[in-house]
This record gives sequence, structure tokens and C-alpha cells, in this order.
Amino acid sequence: AEMAARRGMAWCRWYRAVEVVRDLEQRCATPTEQLQRVVNSLAVEMFAGLVTEGGSRVRMLLTCVDALPDGSEEGVYYAIDLGGTSFRVLKVELGAGSTIINQKVEHQSIPENLTKGASNDLFNFIALALKNFIAREGGEDEGRPLGFTFSFPVRHSSISSGSLIQWTKEFSVEETVGKDVAQCLNEALVRNGLNMKVNVLVNNTVGTLALGHYYDKDTIAAVIIGAGTNACYIERNDVIVKSLDLLTNTGQTVVNVEWGSYRPPQIALTPYDICFKETRSYYDQGFEKMISGVYLGEIARLVFQKMAQVSDVFGAAAVDSLSTPFILRAPYLAAIREDDSPDLREVGRILEEHLKMQDVPLKTRKLVAIVCDIITQRAARLAAAAIVAILQKIGCDGTLCGTRKVRTMRGVRERTVIAIEGGLFQGYAVFREYLDEALTQILGEEIAATVSLRVMEEGSGVGAALLAAAYS
Ligand code: BGC
Repeated sequence: AEMAARRGMAWCRWYRAVEVVRDLEQRCATPTEQLQRVVNSLAVEMFAGLVTEGGSRVRMLLTCVDALPDGSEEGVYYAIDLGGTSFRVLKVELGAGSTIINQKVEHQSIPENLTKGASNDLFNFIALALKNFIAREGGEDEGRPLGFTFSFPVRHSSISSGSLIQWTKEFSVEETVGKDVAQCLNEALVRNGLNMKVNVLVNNTVGTLALGHYYDKDTIAAVIIGAGTNACYIERNDVIVKSLDLLTNTGQTVVNVEWGSYRPPQIALTPYDICFKETRSYYDQGFEKMISGVYLGEIARLVFQKMAQVSDVFGAAAVDSLSTPFILRAPYLAAIREDDSPDLREVGRILEEHLKMQDVPLKTRKLVAIVCDIITQRAARLAAAAIVAILQKIGCDGTLCGTRKVRTMRGVRERTVIAIEGGLFQGYAVFREYLDEALTQILGEEIAATVSLRVMEEGSGVGAALLAAAYS
């Protein structure tokens, strides 16, 4: 009888953890009809964002890019790509006819103290990295144009200047907020003895769009799903009502949506999202925090922490590590979800190596994998809804034309290409599968078949070099 009672109690404790997972599953469910509502509300916000500054939950920033590279660009161009703690310096050699003859990309990590320190220190670090890169490459800096990919919300005053609205992701160099970031870099270039100047300042979505469009003229939008998430697309000037002084007579402008700041009213936050609530502003990157790489692992950590609090499912394993914020990075979350071995060996290894939790029982490892699956699925489905919102905004989702043929700025077209980049998307097959599945569910098979997502390797940086060429 005693043993039965003990077994009963063990079951009870186990059951509490299962309840946490079930509850998470329910809260994170995103049935297709709900996604469709997210699509509609985001598309409405996108319309509103083109009318007045601050009149919408998405910023809809005008980028001053009024023409994309057409393949005729030639010569050697440099670019800097700052988007996360890993940044890149690039040299791209272009030949006529959309040919990239040579491309060199160097990755460097930004030391953590520079992501929260003084503005000059950050920009000096970047300028010096470029200087060393050019020296190693035996290149010339003499008066060269430079493409600068800066993947944070910027209010442009021209294609080569714009002030930082707010930092996102892992950065918080408060001194830079409100400053012209191209000027910050230009001054750092001078301080470091480089005779170069930023001639295009672009968001990473815009770089990715430029590369996509360079290869395929049907590319009308670009999406990033990496550390952060965002999109840009080609808009007709006649539907833009705000900031008219930034529009030119080419009739079109690339708009940086900044969808990361959206918080879809249809999607209730889970208790594990709540820690992100006490953020600075109205534009609190609510959407980004449900979708992108910086945050997914953190949501999982909070769920595991809850499981550890209400039960003993982690057995004898020490669970102290679960109280360390951001300890579980997205690549580990992906690896946990993608471990399909019967004994979930990889899950065990990750828990041991990265969370210092030894000998987590198999049935708990299964729960851990389910949690990662639930979080991934919600993220991918929300990203799919956001992509469809862009299609809806430009009339390529079938609802505005009602036929397979899609109406666009340049007449009727049967296919729509969206350039896409970002570590989470590129490195996580299950995420891509969930995203594709949701796209088909929302759009229907026929329309979904006309939309292709095309990965642009290093698009953010290479695209900036292309734009530096196009605008030089
Ligand atoms: C930034 C965007 C950027 C996105 C993807 C977001 O946090 O606000 O400007 O495009 O991350 O890197």
C-alpha cells in the first residue's frame, strides 16, 4: 500500500509538469482562422503606418531606396553589416549582367561590453575592423562609397543618413539613440584614418531585397527571421501619405515595415511571454519576442523553470541554471526539437552541456522536446501570417484579384518572390516546415504555389554593397 501511495504521489508530481506543457500548448495554439485575423489586422496597420508617423503599431519607415540594383553595376564595393552581436565586413566585386565576380565576407563578434557601452567605442570598433579588413585585402579606401547595413529602426533623412529610433535585440547603446548612425560611422572612419564615406544606409531587410531583386526581378519583398524579425517591400508612392519630401519621381519606394514591434491583439500572451511586458515603449517588439532567435530559447527556459517549480520531472538534475536569463540559445532549442533519436540523446547532451542538468530522465526529455516544438510552431505560424500580410498589402494574396494571376505594380504576374534571410530560418528545418505549412493553410494551395521564398545568403551585407554601387 505504501509503495502504491508513493507511486501515486510521483504520478501526481509528474502530472503537474504535464499540465504546464498542456496549458502552454493550448495558449500557443494558432488555428488558421486566427492567423487570418492576424494577417488582416497587420495589413490594416501597414496601411495606417503609411498615413501618419506614429499612427500605427508598425513604423512603416521610408527607406529612400527608390530603385533597386538592376544588374548593370560594376566594380569593387565594401559594406558593413551590423545587426546582431555578430557583424560582418564585406568586399564585393561586381561584373555586368548580375554577376558577382568575387565576394569576401568576414564575420566578427562584437564584444558584449560594446553593445551596452559608449557610442564612439562601438563605431570605432566597426571602423577599425573595416580598416584592418581593407588592409588585409590589399584594397584602397580612397574616397570609396560604403554600404552600411544597420538593422535597427532608423528614421531616414536621405538614403545616406538617418537617426536611430531605438535599439532592439541585444543592443542598448543609449547614447546613439536619436543620432544619425551614418554620421557616427563616418566620424569613426575619419578618426581611424579611413578615407571612406557611407553612401547608402540600409536596413538588413533592404539589403536582402536588393540582392533578391538583383537575381530575380519578381522579388518584391524581403523578410528576416534571425536574431530579430522584420520585412520590407516595394510600395507605390501614390499610396504613401506621410513624409512626402522623401519620395522621388521613380514612383516607388522600399518601405521598412518593422513588424517586430507589432503586438497582434488576437494572440494572448502566455505567462512566459509576460516577462517581456515591462518594456520601454509602445513599440515593444512584442511580435519579435514571439518569433525570433534572441527570444525563443528564453521562452522555453521560463517554461522549464515553471516545470521544475511545480514538479520533480528533472529528477536529481540540478536546475539552478534555469534561473539564468537567456541561457538557452535558439540553436539549442532547434537542436532539441530536431533530435529524432529514440532515446533523445542530443536533448540529454544539450541539457547537460548548456543547462548543466545531468541525467534528465527520458520521459522528461520528451516533454522538453514538446515544449520546444510548441514554441517553434507558434513562432513559425506567426511569421507566416506576417508574410501573408505583406502579400495582402500589395495585392498578391489572391484576395484582391480573386484569380491565380496576381496584380502588382508592374502589371499581372503569376509568381511572387520573397527574399529571405536569417539564422533561425536558414538553420532550422522544422521552423521552415511549419512556416510553409501555415502559408499554405492561409493562402490556399493554389495561391501558395505562386509564392516562393528564396534564401539570400549574406543578402543583408551583399545587398548593401549592391546598393552602394547603384547609388554611387
Ligand atoms: C530590427 C529590424 C531588423 C530586424 C531583423 C529588428 O529587431 O528592429 O530593423 O530588420 O530586427 O534583424
